Amino acid sequence: MSIADNIKRVQDRINAACAKANRDPSEITLIAVSKQKSAVDIVSAAEAGIQHIGENRVEECAGKIAPVQAAAPGALTWHMVGHVQSRKAKQVLQLFDIVQSLDSLRLARRYSRLAGESDLRLRALLEINVSGEASKHGFAGYNWYQDSAVRDRLWRELAELFELPNLEIAGLMTMAPFHAQETTIRRVFADLAGLRVELQNSLDVSLPELSMGMTDDFELAIVEGATMIRVGRALFGGRN
Ligand SMILES: *Cc1c(COP(=O)(O)O)cnc(C)c1O
Repeated sequence: MSIADNIKRVQDRINAACAKANRDPSEITLIAVSKQKSAVDIVSAAEAGIQHIGENRVEECAGKIAPVQAAAPGALTWHMVGHVQSRKAKQVLQLFDIVQSLDSLRLARRYSRLAGESDLRLRALLEINVSGEASKHGFAGYNWYQDSAVRDRLWRELAELFELPNLEIAGLMTMAPFHAQETTIRRVFADLAGLRVELQNSLDVSLPELSMGMTDDFELAIVEGATMIRVGRALFGGRN
């Protein structure tokens, strides 16, 4: 299977999920997650119509952006989707168009300061750990609607974060647990969608994007309201 064939299959899956959810496929932005894949593969994806690329490690991606952009038919939008260590924040700010994985207030303060120093404005999504798994990064959001301690802390941190200059917070991002039952995965996505509504109403902010869903679960995410899906294996094949 070529990457172009894979893109067609993923697009068919997106269309089918949208039909089921009564949504327009144009509402869904497909982010091709190319971690561990070569610049050649990314260019093939771009030639077949992909416009958004996701990477999770700044060191790995730094060497790919320039050759890909030189060979690709048009400008690509680069999304950082992995956890970023503080000392790499500056490089991320310079290389990426969007940080989907803004996962702590501390890092947000740092990006805000660095962006100000470089006269930049960083577009970012807030990563929320809705599943509650210890292995996941993100603002703690497990059971936010029932656990008042979780909720109070989240609201306090995000209220401060939304006041920081030089950041444009465009929405929320999460990852569902791997190998979980469908009901569990759907609840994680629904909880993120509910959190978006609640934050918009109570903090008077606009959060248009909901980034959720990967190769194994993006149809469920679309049904629950995803506007961005992040797909790796279904487009580029397996990773080791
Ligand atoms: C790897 C990765 C993806 C894509 O996962 P697949 O299962 O290959 O589709 C999506 N989001 C993040 C944050 C990732 O690290």
